[in-house]
Amino acid sequence: MLSAKAEQFTESVIREMTRLAMKHGAVNLSQGFPDFAAPAEIKEAARQAISDDINQYAITWGAKPLRDAIVEKFERTQGVRVDPEREITICCGSTEAMMSTMLAIINPGDEIVVFEPFYENYGPDAILSGATPRFVKLSPPDWTYDERELAAAFGPHTKAIILNTPNNPTGKVFTRAELEFIRDLCVRWNAYCITDEIYEHILYDGAEHISMARIGGMRDRTIVINGMSKTYSVTGWRVGWAIAPPEPTAAIRKVHDFLTVGAAAPLQQAGAIALKSPQSYYDKLATDYTVRRERLLKILTAAGFTVYKPFGAYYIMTDISGFGFPDDVAFAKVLVEKVGVAVVPGSSFYNDARDGANQVRFTFCKKETTLAAAEERLSRLPEHLGSR
Ligand code: GLN
Repeated sequence: MLSAKAEQFTESVIREMTRLAMKHGAVNLSQGFPDFAAPAEIKEAARQAISDDINQYAITWGAKPLRDAIVEKFERTQGVRVDPEREITICCGSTEAMMSTMLAIINPGDEIVVFEPFYENYGPDAILSGATPRFVKLSPPDWTYDERELAAAFGPHTKAIILNTPNNPTGKVFTRAELEFIRDLCVRWNAYCITDEIYEHILYDGAEHISMARIGGMRDRTIVINGMSKTYSVTGWRVGWAIAPPEPTAAIRKVHDFLTVGAAAPLQQAGAIALKSPQSYYDKLATDYTVRRERLLKILTAAGFTVYKPFGAYYIMTDISGFGFPDDVAFAKVLVEKVGVAVVPGSSFYNDARDGANQVRFTFCKKETTLAAAEERLSRLPEHLGSR
């Protein structure tokens, strides 16, 4: 009685780990949402919008002030000018922007190239839209790809490559040279690049975020997915967007309209104000995350994890081989139930679970008190290693 598509994937492991964290009273370093306050001015802007009675539907593809603010910010940060009337669709989070995009461009038989490990949503996105994924490995410790493997994944059926930079879960920030190599393949095979840039401002050690839309020749075949969640610490607001050339935007807008009609109108209004934040806001965001990154790297190293240092986003992928568990799921279970720390099993970022069996992902978008509590609990990890 059920859809064959819906039977092909499970519930989100990331969001399940948050439920398990609550059930076991564990410190939640699994799902990537900040546990600290959102900026006061942005919250005030949302309150003001409701008081001003911006409480009915916005235009389905997005409130004009927010679309204008996105245009202004994208031009200021990436030097790319887009048309707010024909190239932007505001959605219910970048999750919906990605799904609407896939549904708007995929036909039966189409293939998409996906770097692996990948943010888990891209799997169900492919299944629901009907795309056949072709996975290309990013290899630790620096998460580089093999150029021949990537080139071999493209072909006459390739509709798009999905890129995520800065990357979840690895923290990789794609370089200009890497983006240009991908560009050459997109041009050769007439494919889109769908680029998820939600962590654009969370960067370390001088890493620079370069949008694929800025790479020569890619302006007209790039679909940028972004949103307010990570940059303004408002993951629950569900305001995201797709920036795409007019033709795909027309299709994305239609899909979006019939999926959700529109994102929350007062929060779009607040978004227009958030996007006008001064550069100092973004600098502080990156500085604060640098401190948290150092803190968690130290905690995990002391607890015996092999860590892969991230250059962007707010996750740390780790190798757990040293602990001698059968796999990542068994390890994560002991960690959440006995040690009291929730993480995401590495296998949820891979097509074949075995590829992630030695990895778990931690997030550090958390208050110092949360990280300190995790430190204290992880110091007791050795007690639980023998008693399995
Ligand atoms: N992107 C975040 C993560 O990877 C949150 C995902 C979600 O639950 N929407 O943890």
